[in-house]
Amino acid sequence: MSASTEIKREVARRRTFAIISHPDAGKTTLTEKFLLYGGALNLAGSVTARKNQRATTSDWMELEKQRGISISSTVLQFDYKDCVVNILDTPGHKDFSEDTYRVLTAVDAAVMVVDAGKGIESQTRKLFEVCRRRGVPIFTFMNKLDRPSKPPLELLDDLENVLGIHAFPLNWPLGDGPRFKGVYDREKKQVHLFERTPGGAFRAPVAVSDISDPAVANKLDTGVYEQVTEELELLDGAGADFDLAAVEAGELTPVFFGSAANNFGVQLLLDRFIELAPTPSGRMAGEVEIEPESEEFSAFVFKIQANMNPKHRDRVSFIRIVSGKFERDMNVFHTRTGEKVRLSNSMRLFAQDRETVDDAFAGDVAGLVGNHDFLIGDTLSSKKSLSFDEIPRFAPECFAWLHNASTAKFKRFRSGLEQMLKEGVVSEFTPLENDGVYTPLLGAVGPLQFEVLQHRLQGEYDAETRIEPAYWQLSRWMRLKEGETTKEDLPELSMDVRLVRDRHGHLVALIPSPWTLGTFTEKNEKWEISEQPFPP
Ligand code: GDP
Repeated sequence: MSASTEIKREVARRRTFAIISHPDAGKTTLTEKFLLYGGALNLAGSVTARKNQRATTSDWMELEKQRGISISSTVLQFDYKDCVVNILDTPGHKDFSEDTYRVLTAVDAAVMVVDAGKGIESQTRKLFEVCRRRGVPIFTFMNKLDRPSKPPLELLDDLENVLGIHAFPLNWPLGDGPRFKGVYDREKKQVHLFERTPGGAFRAPVAVSDISDPAVANKLDTGVYEQVTEELELLDGAGADFDLAAVEAGELTPVFFGSAANNFGVQLLLDRFIELAPTPSGRMAGEVEIEPESEEFSAFVFKIQANMNPKHRDRVSFIRIVSGKFERDMNVFHTRTGEKVRLSNSMRLFAQDRETVDDAFAGDVAGLVGNHDFLIGDTLSSKKSLSFDEIPRFAPECFAWLHNASTAKFKRFRSGLEQMLKEGVVSEFTPLENDGVYTPLLGAVGPLQFEVLQHRLQGEYDAETRIEPAYWQLSRWMRLKEGETTKEDLPELSMDVRLVRDRHGHLVALIPSPWTLGTFTEKNEKWEISEQPFPP
């Protein structure tokens, strides 16, 4: 087989996605059930025991320990039917952070898990926004139907009203809570009946027939059958056909109902997902789009994690392959520095040293172990001149000064902080006017990032720190509009706005409130004001 045929075939098999949800909606459980279908676990055990002893680093490292199987803490790969499925882990913190956002820059689709008893919750909304900004197709799984749930039509309204995305239910729940008896597949016009199994530990048995089958009505509780047929008529009456192009554009979300813990509706979701979800997409490098089927190897770094194993000071850079074929020991350009680097045998998927990646294709993720001088967003390519567009960043909304508690340990403090900045745990801003005392001013999208920072500085660098919160709530990148000039090339300040520079030297305004942002914007009509850094 020629190289290009092989690449085409492999790219067509890939599905790379993240599962997003508010904590406790069922992301871990669903992941585990997906694994079950991938044959990675014969028995999907109860997730509760594990959750109680959940490690702070990653949900999956804990899963890995418990199951003794090799999965990476960042990506989980398995074969399902003809496909190679890559699920990228978005850290399941109570708080959200830039880390999560960055992982979402490396996926081609997302599965959004919603607790059907609660509807759309705050964190789901934020993660959803990130996906939408990138135009990533989103599939919705309404979970926990075995518990009392909101009426399904109301859940769809939630998607439309709260998230502003059109919803198309591909199946429909037959009752909820104790009356939950299965789902109706609207496409195939089949009923899947649900039978509880002890602990939900086995593949849920499903029986298939038509909704008009009297046996269906008999199975359902009084009133449920009438209600469901009425709802289905209503949906059919609304008349819209399923529009795959709208799904691909991120404007329409296919909706599935089920219960992850009971492993019900999961296979229906997975089967349809791999049919409908896009294959790996290309990426823009300036004016050109690099196609996944291209024979030239290219990838970008989307996550860096140091000291995953406290015993070795190792550093893992996670890359998403954009095009070509990755082969172990290959030599590629690290295009930011122009250096050639060998992706040698230190290179492996981070899975307790058990797995090396020998080859990989667009859509796959690999973890490069070693002291490469990589930064988030860097391009690796067989072409020296290729450089992917910057990974979108998110405007920090939390700010703080970081104080070093012990002058004697300043060196550790500084080198620890350097590493954390490289990994993008937080960002540093430099005030325009410097008063001579060095106290780093840091920004983050969520306060958890500061906690992680302090914890890691202490644990990994023995550097004790103190956080002094700052009052700004917003940050905006600033650039003079074309043809405009001002006296000192600086915007006019409103009350309590502070001007700083980011690590690239770009001008940023820190702003205390949305109200001040309003007055600040009015005052500075000559300026472009953006939530994201301007492209160079
Ligand atoms: P995550 O925080 O989103 O990863 O959520 P988990 O997967 O850890 O699930 C949170 C809790 O909800 C756990 O106690 C699960 O057992 C429970 N859970 C998950 N799916 C279901 C479901 O379909 N029905 C019920 N009743 N509980 C569920």
